Amino acid sequence: MQQIAPYSQSFSTVNKRTRILPHMTDWPSGATSGEYDLAQICERGHIITAFADTQPGLRASRCSKCGSVVIEKCPDCQAPLRGAFYGTYSVQMLTEAPKYCHQCGAAYPWRAEQLRMAEELAAEAQYDLDEKEQGQLRDSLVEISTDTAATQLAGARIKRLLNKVSEPLKAAIYKYAVDVSSEIGKKILTGE
Ligand SMILES: [Zn+2]
Ligand SMILES: [Zn+2]
Repeated sequence: MQQIAPYSQSFSTVNKRTRILPHMTDWPSGATSGEYDLAQICERGHIITAFADTQPGLRASRCSKCGSVVIEKCPDCQAPLRGAFYGTYSVQMLTEAPKYCHQCGAAYPWRAEQLRMAEELAAEAQYDLDEKEQGQLRDSLVEISTDTAATQLAGARIKRLLNKVSEPLKAAIYKYAVDVSSEIGKKILTGE
């Protein structure tokens, strides 16, 4: 008889490109096809677990990476954070913390922190940029993290505006932009 791998072992066979578990044979008990598991994410955006419902042993109250408080629902509307999704034949993993609540659209705490940083970095550039440029920089730093039609423009703008900003602020803004960027945004910024 074929040995069925425990769920935690098949977990390591996650296909990183497609983000699914292709050959999972044993579902966590309590998992229902077509439903989400519960995620726990720390307030700075580290994913603690995508299986808080079905594998309560993975739960934590503080983040082991940064020590921040861990949440499992939207602070604004209390909607549960979406973890792994159980499809018919595969499990869709949670590889990145979502930016906004799927129910009320509020920015999650880690996203709100990113938005505050964009604001502060743009304000810090007051000696190198005029007001309009500061506004463009702030908006572009927000846009670069999304995958929208405006991402490309945001990348081009950040590059142009950074040429006017002096060090060390220039390096700080560049690092922030690359860190928060979507895949498309990263390519534009790093020129790869
Ligand atoms: Zn953390
Ligand atoms: Zn919400």
